[in-house]
Amino acid sequence: MQFSRVIGHAALKAKLIGNLREGRVPHAQLFVGPRGSGNLPMAMAYAQYLLCEDQGQADACGTCPSCLQMAKLEHPDLHLAFPIFFTEKVKSCDPFTGDWRTAVLAEPYLDIAQWRDLLESENKQLRMGVDIAQEIQRKLSLKSFRGGHKVMLVWMPELMDPVAANKLLKVLEEPEPNTVFLLVANDAEQLLATILSRAQLVKVPALPADELADALRERFPELGITEAMAIAARSEGDLLEAVDMAGKGEEALFVFFRDWLRACYRREVVAAVEMGEGFAKFGREWQKSLVRYGLYMMRQCALQWMKADALVRVVGQEQEFVSNFSKLLNERNAEGIRQELESAHVHIERNANPKVLFMDLSYRMMGLLRG
Ligand SMILES: [Zn+2]
Repeated sequence: MQFSRVIGHAALKAKLIGNLREGRVPHAQLFVGPRGSGNLPMAMAYAQYLLCEDQGQADACGTCPSCLQMAKLEHPDLHLAFPIFFTEKVKSCDPFTGDWRTAVLAEPYLDIAQWRDLLESENKQLRMGVDIAQEIQRKLSLKSFRGGHKVMLVWMPELMDPVAANKLLKVLEEPEPNTVFLLVANDAEQLLATILSRAQLVKVPALPADELADALRERFPELGITEAMAIAARSEGDLLEAVDMAGKGEEALFVFFRDWLRACYRREVVAAVEMGEGFAKFGREWQKSLVRYGLYMMRQCALQWMKADALVRVVGQEQEFVSNFSKLLNERNAEGIRQELESAHVHIERNANPKVLFMDLSYRMMGLLRG
């Protein structure tokens, strides 16, 4: 992956390349950024530049043998570690490396939920255990294949078991020569402070709306600029969220959400039950998208209700919805509705029964709306 394929973040790219060109290669770096920000592609572009045999001013050449191998994530000096589902027999990454490569090549902005869905396991928890830490140690003790740097890319180190994290810390404390650690995390706070203190921080912020809108139109050429900007604003710098909205049709989310709230307000229990069936039929990712969209719309309504009209970011039919629905908000229910949606999101992630969850949410919403 070359820097040119990483969306936006021009200043950060220039800084990373500048450091490399001046020969400053930190032993360990932590690429931390929220979902859909591009911390993983940024780390991969960094690795490709580092290993490139004909580095340009602004990017890896893309054509040397090393770049060709990096384009398939198959460079022998690029080592990968990521969370997996443990089985009786398998507790290390090696058997899944092919799957991970395929997933990341298809979606370089991959997140943990997509990875989990791809693995399709009965087991619920993605982990990195001590076997993976040992695998990391073993791989780094090998000689560099091409005689240059060895790169160890650790994706989502926050999912390491404590024993594994301590083992990783040992490896970070006693670095093998020419070894470069690229830790790629969403949430630095979940990492051991001792690991944090060993790694140089590379913050990858959420994408600005204009850059995100451009990227979206590259993926969805049929999308108009206004619609792309609206989705970009609504997805708050998260490329995956934006792609999700554009792919599923934001219209569908809007219509479902509006009709559901209407049913709750009118206390139409039968309609709410029927919508619950529909809700359960869609997959978990769609359910999460709907709830996140609901949270977004509630924020817009709250802004409208607080007379902060200038901050409200809605388009088309949403304007009418926000203008009407914000009249139903009051000091008591605004926060309650937000909390209910937040908690529904958590429960969907934990695999709650969607029909039960949706009915429960509907009843609470009826109460909150009619007091
Ligand atoms: Zn190259």
